Amino acid sequence: MSEKKVHNYDGLSFTTRAIHVGNEPDPGTGAIEPAINMANSFLLPYDPSTMNWSASEDKIYTRNGGVNQGLLEKKIANLEGGEDCVVLASGVAALSALFFTKLKKGDHVIFSTVTYIATYRIFNELWTEKWGIETSIVDCTDLEKVKAAIKPNTKLIHFETPGNPTLCICDIEGIVKLAHEHGILVSADNTFSSPYNTRPLEYGVDFVVESLTKYINGHGDSMGGAIIGNHEDMDKIRYQAQVNIGGVISPFNAWLIMRGAVTFPLRMQVHNDNALAIAEWLEKQPCVSFVAYPGLKSHKGHELAVKQMKNGFGGVLSFGLKGEHDLYNRVVTHLNIFTSAVSLGHDASLIVFLGEDDERMYLYPQEFHGGFYRVAIGIEDKKDLIDDLRQAFKAEGLETVD
Ligand SMILES: *Cc1c(COP(=O)(O)O)cnc(C)c1O
Repeated sequence: MSEKKVHNYDGLSFTTRAIHVGNEPDPGTGAIEPAINMANSFLLPYDPSTMNWSASEDKIYTRNGGVNQGLLEKKIANLEGGEDCVVLASGVAALSALFFTKLKKGDHVIFSTVTYIATYRIFNELWTEKWGIETSIVDCTDLEKVKAAIKPNTKLIHFETPGNPTLCICDIEGIVKLAHEHGILVSADNTFSSPYNTRPLEYGVDFVVESLTKYINGHGDSMGGAIIGNHEDMDKIRYQAQVNIGGVISPFNAWLIMRGAVTFPLRMQVHNDNALAIAEWLEKQPCVSFVAYPGLKSHKGHELAVKQMKNGFGGVLSFGLKGEHDLYNRVVTHLNIFTSAVSLGHDASLIVFLGEDDERMYLYPQEFHGGFYRVAIGIEDKKDLIDDLRQAFKAEGLETVD
């Protein structure tokens, strides 16, 4: 049909690579975009009897590695600047595949106080109780505290920056230096920053994990997760976790995320710009008790964020209202554009009220303790978003300014 052309993406900008890597024309059919290949199994060679059924190098079965999955892995590895990538069914599947492959009974893990709930659940109770993994929950924004928590059996330091949901900022380079001096591995959950703003591998982390469900897919219509690191470890993750635990992504979801990834840099810039404008507006409102957004000068981690987040500070912010519990719920009923839903990185703006009874509240700074909103700013017109918040505040008689 058509010839297989070898493309060279070296030296091209992030935006160009987001469009082209993995989206090459299909040499078989000539179609200019990849097809959705739903096959769950592949033609075997003449003598299959000696094959390793747990291998992922050869096409055997889609749980060992499928077509759309492979294209997405190529794109995400490229965007994060890593040697290799494994994509799985969700961000949590990626987190647990990494932890399953790299940790064993008796290992100690330091993980940050502010993480995704599943990370907290895994390290605070499930793996400690079931598998004898020792863990310490540590404020990783404070290098002295990280240093003090290191034990002879510490194997891994895992953190998020910005952290979900307080938006705290960890010093990636500082943690890496400290960890590597002690022979400890470092994994960073890059979901909130996304590779458009931060590429933690450039600061020396061993592994990046991220939810592709969020900014990279970007349209609120599929789930996926990725681990990025060196070939040897990624192969081990495929061999141990992907094939045997089986959190494999569906070809259709991989294809949807590939499609979303093409416009990811453009969307991310709008998320960055909108969230900064809205955070600045919120900070001026007399009815708002606090705003947490790393792009604000008032944010404790602002200087570090400027250093680590090259293009902007992401689309998520948290803020509090001066008022009681149910005021938060009533304000949400007046919102016209924002949707009350979890998740983030969608085209549409989302808001979630996290109440004062949340089991992890004690791990967050004082200003969060009365309850707060976590807001995922979308890519709508920022004036419309501000107007929507203002009218919802006013509907409850709250004091606002322009
Ligand atoms: C959403 C999220 C995850 C989990 O990803 P899923 O795709 O929902 O499994 C992990 N880490 C962070 C920071 C997240 O926001």
